[in-house]
Amino acid sequence: MNEATGVQSIREALTRYNEEEGSQEGETTEDEEPRACAVCGDLAKGYHFNALTCEGCKGFFRRAIKRSTQLRCRFQNKCSITKNNRRSCQACRFRKCRAIGMRQEMVMSEKEVQERRTRIQTRKRLDAPVELSSQQEETIKELLCSHRQSFDSAFYRFSGFRPMDRNALPVGQDESESELCSLSSTSLSGSFETPENQEHEEAGKKGSVFTALPHVADLTTYMIQDIITFSKSLRDFQSLNMDDQISLLKGATFEIMQIRFNMVFNTKTGIWECGHLTYCINDAVRAGFQPLLLEPLLKFHHTLRDLCLQEEEYALMQACPCFLQTVQRTGPEKHLLYPKVMSCLTEMRTMNEEYSKQVLQIQDIQPDIISPLIMEMVSKNPCSDF
Ligand SMILES: [Zn+2]
Ligand SMILES: [Zn+2]
Repeated sequence: MNEATGVQSIREALTRYNEEEGSQEGETTEDEEPRACAVCGDLAKGYHFNALTCEGCKGFFRRAIKRSTQLRCRFQNKCSITKNNRRSCQACRFRKCRAIGMRQEMVMSEKEVQERRTRIQTRKRLDAPVELSSQQEETIKELLCSHRQSFDSAFYRFSGFRPMDRNALPVGQDESESELCSLSSTSLSGSFETPENQEHEEAGKKGSVFTALPHVADLTTYMIQDIITFSKSLRDFQSLNMDDQISLLKGATFEIMQIRFNMVFNTKTGIWECGHLTYCINDAVRAGFQPLLLEPLLKFHHTLRDLCLQEEEYALMQACPCFLQTVQRTGPEKHLLYPKVMSCLTEMRTMNEEYSKQVLQIQDIQPDIISPLIMEMVSKNPCSDF
């Protein structure tokens, strides 16, 4: 037998694989039909250290490898080994073990045995469903309740808003562009209307460059109010002083708003289905936002929606990403959910800054439409300026 230099046979690869899977040391799966031990002829149920052997010879081989003293035959190194006499000469039994292909390197050292034990225990712990403490269960229940009470997913209570006339053409745009909304959103690039410089110049005169802005501003204000209601119902939030509450809201509102919009996002059509109202990405274009924000935003909505989060997870995501890993998931690939959600949150942080910048630009071009609440949300936070 050659010395092992890496995995050299399928069997060895399989053996190592099985070891990883938690089967016995150096052992492959048990055969259906019992066969004879290649060392002593006793009943063999499987492969041990690369050879078909009985349990007795398996244990003998391991002990023989680990002992420090040399084995000696009292006869002529020619003893035949049988089931009945296998104990009579250890030296010849060991010689036969090696002759039939049992491999010393497949016997694990004490250290390896310990490592394997730890590995299996760790895996068992990871595979075990996460047990929620009663306090965690309570927290999730409370969050879900707050979320439901403060999120009007059908937008029933959103009334008295300034309407959005998608047919009203912005100054300087021709008619073909008004059809973009119906086409929009399925492809990321090329579907955006581009506000032209010329419009910006005329904005001061006409005051209706961004035709969707009044409606979008109302919608945003409405969502912000709900998000404040949501935050106020969280005990951890209540325990902060007013300045900290405001800072937190300024940082998180855009993100919570997007998480909420994501719950009504239809990835097939690229439409946000808000009850009797529906929105497409070009409504945001018509409100003055630009591709620099809208392209990653649309991508974000597709990515997050494709994760098929449960309502609890959306609620947790809004409150504190740290809680997310405690929600139980079943099915394939769910263990990778947490990092994916975190990456969505990170992307959103970047978009958040761009959003604030663009709102301020829109305000410059077309003043007095955006509510003070929105302006406060996007205004620079003195507390986070370090
Ligand atoms: Zn045997
Ligand atoms: Zn012997």
